[in-house]
Amino acid sequence: MTNLEQYYLTEEHHLFRNSLRDFLDKEVVPFVDQWEIDHQVPKEIFRKFGEMGYFGLTQEEKYGGSNLDFWYDVIFIEEVSKSNSGGFGASISAHPYLSMSHLKHEGSDFLKDKYLPKAISGDWHGALAITEPHAGSDVANIKTTAKKDGDFYIINGSKCFITNGVSADYIIVACKTANGISMILVEGNAIGLSKNNLNKLGWKASDTAELAFDNVKVPITNLLGEEGKGFYYIMQRFELERLTLALGALASSEWALQYALQYMNERKAFGKTINKFQVLRHRIAQMAAEIENVKTFTYHVCKMYNDKNYCVKEASMSKLLATELSDKVAYQCLQMFGGYGYMEEYKIARFFRDSRLGTIGGGSSEIMCEIIAKMVIDDVSYGRQTTVDSPKQKELNIEDIISSLPNRFKKEKANGIEMTILFEFENDLYYQIEIKNQNIVLSTVDSRQSTVDLTITTTTETYIAVETGKLNPQEAFMSGKIKVSDLGKMMQFGSLFKKYN
Ligand SMILES: Cc1cc2nc3c(=O)[nH]c(=O)nc-3n(C[C@H](O)[C@H](O)[C@H](O)COP(=O)(O)OP(=O)(O)OC[C@H]3O[C@@H](n4cnc5c(N)ncnc54)[C@H](O)[C@@H]3O)c2cc1C
Repeated sequence: MTNLEQYYLTEEHHLFRNSLRDFLDKEVVPFVDQWEIDHQVPKEIFRKFGEMGYFGLTQEEKYGGSNLDFWYDVIFIEEVSKSNSGGFGASISAHPYLSMSHLKHEGSDFLKDKYLPKAISGDWHGALAITEPHAGSDVANIKTTAKKDGDFYIINGSKCFITNGVSADYIIVACKTANGISMILVEGNAIGLSKNNLNKLGWKASDTAELAFDNVKVPITNLLGEEGKGFYYIMQRFELERLTLALGALASSEWALQYALQYMNERKAFGKTINKFQVLRHRIAQMAAEIENVKTFTYHVCKMYNDKNYCVKEASMSKLLATELSDKVAYQCLQMFGGYGYMEEYKIARFFRDSRLGTIGGGSSEIMCEIIAKMVIDDVSYGRQTTVDSPKQKELNIEDIISSLPNRFKKEKANGIEMTILFEFENDLYYQIEIKNQNIVLSTVDSRQSTVDLTITTTTETYIAVETGKLNPQEAFMSGKIKVSDLGKMMQFGSLFKKYN
């Protein structure tokens, strides 16, 4: 155990790490090269992990879990990341930390009873499908729809880059429903769902799918949490996803450093082993210091998470620093091998490819910076969204916001202003507002009106986010999430209302 590990972990954690290492040495290390070729981890491996209880470390006992503390998950992620197959690590972790974590937190009792025991035992494994061909970082812009039809949802659309998407027995899919994004469980063999395994630069052992949904019919009981709350659920779960990516990046960097040191101790140039060259020694020292530094911070974030503190800022910082560092370590460690580093038979080549995904997946480095910037510059604070919401949050929808406009109307500012405004939302939803003689009249209309003075085109979700202070209006406007026909009139209109609270 390192000093840092000793500080945070107990003897039991240490024993768990040792037994997990033994298991990985026996069941994974000898086979991982074949899985890299197959572009898939065999189903049987998920069962073996399930039998060992690895998927239920922090899950409730009633579903077959062990209800342990988060440090067991930390150790699990670290050790699988040292197997030098980013694809294997991604596949085996996407199941518990992406798909199962949504089931655990947002799943109804019905869904948990039905799916969690199978997921924990490894009989079934899952995927999380958010990204679409035209919406990755911009999650709110997804287009896949789920329309209610009696007791069913009919899902149409497509997803891309979905880890385990081809092999998964169940997929948690982010869809657009009538009032925003919703998370819906779709079984892997659903009729109308087609899958294609994508060819990638790295992460070869995991299957990464392109999914097409053609009138896929699922019962409405497959909805996770509440309709329209999906965006918030995704944001909440990102906290764990980012932390796992940071831990994985650090553990694999540690592995790469040890691997390079081993080589440097054997390789000779100019009559001595290359670990004697000061320039290389300093590079190693610098990397070791940086890894230890970021790991110390990340362990602190793990403690916050384990203690149930909300740590989206800190997890985003960890993810940013750890994945960027991993790329630097991959680059510099490969350099230590000279030409051999470029050869497939040396493990560093795979690490070099696999590491590259860290700064892209689960929110790119640029998106991490955006989130951190909002918190440290704009004082935006992200709170934890509970699944049991206050009555006010529960009822919040576009009607509430629009119908609150007359109450928020600053009559005194409307002297001499006459204008007709049309709100144009998705699914042909229109509201018309007439301002005249310091009065405001609100009505719904059936179609687009050409005679209005100002048209505001946006989605209900964006508008709610702006009105409730979750999205900066300027940002929404600049990014094209809100389009207006006349900017001057829009500013005049905006000045006539108090904030929604
Ligand atoms: C191997 C692999 C596995 C994956 N697994 C999953 C999975 O299991 N489930 C899932 O849902 N998704 C998955 N993804 C998708 C991944 O999360 C997205 O690729 C990622 O979020 C980036 O989205 P994008 O690819 O659409 O890039 P884009 O969003 O198009 O971004 C392109 C570039 O623009 C930058 N950019 C975008 N917006 C901004 C901004 N506001 N400011 C500054 N820069 C910006 C980005 O940082 C990036 O550099 C996976 C991806 C890969 C490659």
